[in-house]
Amino acid sequence: MNVLVINSGSSSIKFRLFCMPEEILVLQGVAEKNSEGNTTFRISSQKEKTVKKWNGYSCKKILDAILKELVSPANECLSSLSEVDVVGHRMIHGGENGTGCVEITDSLVAEMQKLVSLAPLHYPTNLEGINATRKLIPDVFHAGVFDTAFHHTLPEKAFLYGIPFSWYQKHKIRKFGFHGTSHKYASQRASQIAGLDYQSSKIVSCHLGNGASVAAIKNGKSIDTSMGLTPVEGVLMGTRCGDIDAGVLIYLQQNFNLSNREVQQIINKESGLLGISGVSGDYRAVEKAAQEGNKAARTALAVYHYRIKKYFGAYAAAMGGLDLLAFTGGIGQNSANARKEICSDLEFLGVQLSEKQNTELNGTEAIIQQEKANVKIVIIPANEELMIAREVADLAKRKQKDRLS
Ligand code: ADP
Repeated sequence: MNVLVINSGSSSIKFRLFCMPEEILVLQGVAEKNSEGNTTFRISSQKEKTVKKWNGYSCKKILDAILKELVSPANECLSSLSEVDVVGHRMIHGGENGTGCVEITDSLVAEMQKLVSLAPLHYPTNLEGINATRKLIPDVFHAGVFDTAFHHTLPEKAFLYGIPFSWYQKHKIRKFGFHGTSHKYASQRASQIAGLDYQSSKIVSCHLGNGASVAAIKNGKSIDTSMGLTPVEGVLMGTRCGDIDAGVLIYLQQNFNLSNREVQQIINKESGLLGISGVSGDYRAVEKAAQEGNKAARTALAVYHYRIKKYFGAYAAAMGGLDLLAFTGGIGQNSANARKEICSDLEFLGVQLSEKQNTELNGTEAIIQQEKANVKIVIIPANEELMIAREVADLAKRKQKDRLS
């Protein structure tokens, strides 16, 4: 079964074509918006890597280009688009009802449209990608997994905010959490390679990319996570502020006459590593500046590492222990320095990183704790697309069975 996975984000569209159930990655690529607003499209087939660039950034044009690559003879992949059996999508927000993998229908899209205000910077481009793909390949089964779905198991004591209960009852103002598919993949895979039983382990999963979140996964279920109603809450991110006193936002509005839109811009686009360092929201650029002696960049990194470390303590307390730390995402899987700083001084929790393995195995799927440490530490290169492919392929099979019976 050929499964095409589309991950349509706010400034990039990633795709992967898998042959399932063998889980063979046949073709993959990512089209990104660069700082000038133009497109860089990187494609990797089993044979070669190519890079294409063009002016402007349009979802429709990128999807056209992806479909062209799928049938390009140079990639030796598909001879026609009719060979795509299932399309799987990453979907940002499922609200309280979006719990598993679901078929994408017109009525589901209409429901999703109602949730746009919960992720205003991410959901419109995500939906645009889903809608455009459905139009381009209409005769195929489209399904998707909500980024919030894995956190559906959060208990009430973890998801409720301390505001009047009626806001939850009437408007579902609560913690939902994001990066669910990535946390699910990283925690499952990490426990597998560390030789632990997923269903009886206490795991903290760290997805550290441009957006970042931490999740507490106990006995195979997400029981707490750092992102909230929106993807702004939690650890410090590239340009998002993470946890903040709600009073700060009111103070800004009242005393500096800022509009909602301006506050939105500050906390989402001008904060985080960028806001504190004044250098960039990109971890590598901030790290480079820090190494060159930039004090603000050093401070930004110190805040970044400290805030993640605090979640380890909180989640070990929430789970009553800690067996495994999983690091994934651009920073989590590629920055030996970030992992070293985050894991420092946590011996009392049983966290003891092997500096040698941490450095030498950077970027690979690897176990990096010291031999006798109580807590396993594992690097897992992000692969939420594979998790989506598994789930949509399963759903497609079940639907087919239902139709035949
Ligand atoms: P997104 O959340 O948009 O998918 P990624 O998961 O690709 O983003 O993560 C992007 C982040 O990863 C950036 O801050 C980038 O600097 C960081 N990153 C990528 N490679 C490295 C590396 N080798 N060392 C440190 N940071 C890295």
